Parts: sequence; C-alpha cells; structure tokens
Amino acid sequence: MSDLPAIDALDTAVYTVPTDTPEADGTLAWDRTTLVLVTARSGHTTGLGYTYAPAATAHLVQELLTGTVTGRPALDVPRANEEMLRAVRNAGLPGVAAQAISAVDIALWDLKSRLLGLPLVHLLGAARDAVPVYGSGGFTTYDAERQDRQLRHWTHESGIPRVKIKIGESWGRRTERDLARVDRARATIGDGAELYVDANGAYTGGQARRLAGPLADAGVTWFEEPVSCDHLTILADLRHRLPMDVTAGEYGYTLPYFAQLITAGAVDCLQADATRCGGITGWLRAAALAHAHGIDISGHCAPSAHAHAAAAVPGLRHLEWFHDHVRIERLLFDGVLDPGGGSITPGADGAPGLGLTLAEERAEPYRVE
Ligand SMILES: [Mg+2]
Repeated sequence: MSDLPAIDALDTAVYTVPTDTPEADGTLAWDRTTLVLVTARSGHTTGLGYTYAPAATAHLVQELLTGTVTGRPALDVPRANEEMLRAVRNAGLPGVAAQAISAVDIALWDLKSRLLGLPLVHLLGAARDAVPVYGSGGFTTYDAERQDRQLRHWTHESGIPRVKIKIGESWGRRTERDLARVDRARATIGDGAELYVDANGAYTGGQARRLAGPLADAGVTWFEEPVSCDHLTILADLRHRLPMDVTAGEYGYTLPYFAQLITAGAVDCLQADATRCGGITGWLRAAALAHAHGIDISGHCAPSAHAHAAAAVPGLRHLEWFHDHVRIERLLFDGVLDPGGGSITPGADGAPGLGLTLAEERAEPYRVE
C-alpha cells in the first residue's frame, strides 16, 4: 500500500477580474470578482480547484490546510476533507474556511481523476450524459438594451431555453422597475423559454406575496431567495403559498444547514454551491440529501466546478450558467464546456479531471497574489 500516491503540495494563486459592466443584484453591487485557485500536486501530476472568495481564503489554505493534507493519500479525498473540517474548528467553518476547504477538495478530486487518467464524471460514475444549464445574469444595473442583448444571446443564439434575471433592486425599493424588467424579459425571450427571478433576499415576506401574482402572470416559474434564507419560517410560508418554485441554498456551507432548509419545507429545489459547501465531496452529499427528500438540486454559480459532479447525480435540475463566472472561467481556463442547445456534456471529450487547464498567459495580468 505504501506506493499509493500521496498529496505532495498545495499552492494558491489569487486572480481579480473586473466585470464587463458594473453588476448588482437586490442586495449587493460589485465591479470586480476574485477567484482563489488551489493547485494540488502528487508527483508530476497536478489538479486544480477554485472558489470565488476574498484573498484571505488563500491565506487560510496556506495557514491551516496545507499542513493538514500534505502527505495524506491522494486517492482518499473524503479523508482529507474530514481532516480539513477538523483543522478549522477554531477559525469557524461557515464562510472563508468552508470556501478554502471547497477549493482544496475540488483540486483533490481533479488530482485523483488525473492520477487515474479519467474524466471526473467517470471516476464518480455518470447518472446522465447531458447537464442542463440556465443563463443567469440580468443584473439590476443593466439598461433595457443590455438586458435584451444578454437574454437574446442565451435563448436565440445559444439555444438555452432557461434564463434568470435579478430583481429586488435596492433592497426591494424599486418593485415597479423590477416588474417592468420581468415583463420586458418575457417579451424578449418569448413564450418558449423558462423565466426565473432571483431577489437575493431583498424583499419582505409581504412584498414577495404581493409580487407573486404579477410574476406568475409573466410566466415566472422560479423565485429564488424572495426573502433572506435566514428567515426559514417566512421562506417556508412563501413556498406553500406561491405558485412558482421557491428556491435557496447558495449560502449553505454545511450539510446540517441544507438539512434545516429542507426539513423546514422552505425550498422546492435545493441550491448548493460546490465552491462553498465543501467541494465535490460536500456537493454530492447535499445532492443525496435533497434526493432523499424528493426535491431536485441545482448547482449555484461556478459552472465549470460543478459540471462533472452534476452529471453524477440523479436528481439534478440544472446548473447556473452565471455571466460573471462564465466570463472569468473562459478567461482563466482552457476547456470550459459549450452550453449550446441548453446543456453541457462533461467528460465527452475524454479530458481527465474537470477538463480544465489554467491558461497561464491569459491569467497572469489578473493575478494579484
Ligand atoms: Mg442567487
């Protein structure tokens, strides 16, 4: 057994990429996005993982995780994951530490697949060939022309029959503009495409109830975080009253969090983010938890990190083809899949691991650490 490969080293790099135009949702505005990259090495083989998080995440990897995982068996990712969870006990898991663990876990799954010469989906075992995606953007900062152009690109040019826009502008103080943007989005995409909205927790329960009628009239079938998911009782009440699916889960860092969201009856479809909830290891467990309760799972953001895991679970709804992250992943990596027709097929090209390689020359100008 002693000749099994070990994890020899972890390295980190931090990239900050400006947005193409200022972006905002109901409760946050940003003009740049930071990606923390982790490279895990065993002998001459390397795997990569990443998360969208502050640079402090890379510092946490160096300070608390590198010494924890180096020397451990490279094939035993759940063991490394468990040791990392223990190592951050005093730092506190939710937030930066969970994102650091997630990036390392993803890098370790990529490394293991590459050591075995397999696409990650075949290492995990496929449950499907095609992974549906939905176009996600529609920022509140967009003017009508910009929103039209983006939605037309997804539905008309790429053939993606599902799109999502942000509502809840200015913490729910611009509801007339929200509804006008939704109506315009429906007009742009036509009746044949699904229309989703995401309020990022901007509304009160009452606002969300009053808006549900007009949103349903526009054919909205997915209402994401109508209120903050800190308010499970209100979210569960909305889920039972509203005609469209109520969804949440992107701020889930632990499995018990997802269990609470599900058992409160708060969501019709669980969202989980592998770059936050413990990597591929954590995301697969979240998917199993949702499946056990009869609800679907949808991958939140970072689509290239989720693609292979998504193809390995039976209860998958779709992945979020998030404008900001797709731009960054295409810039920093080679091997990002093509969502033409509305789905991607991870592993179809036979490339090992996640199928991604760092495009070092393109990435270097954006490296900040
Ligand atoms: Mg969201």
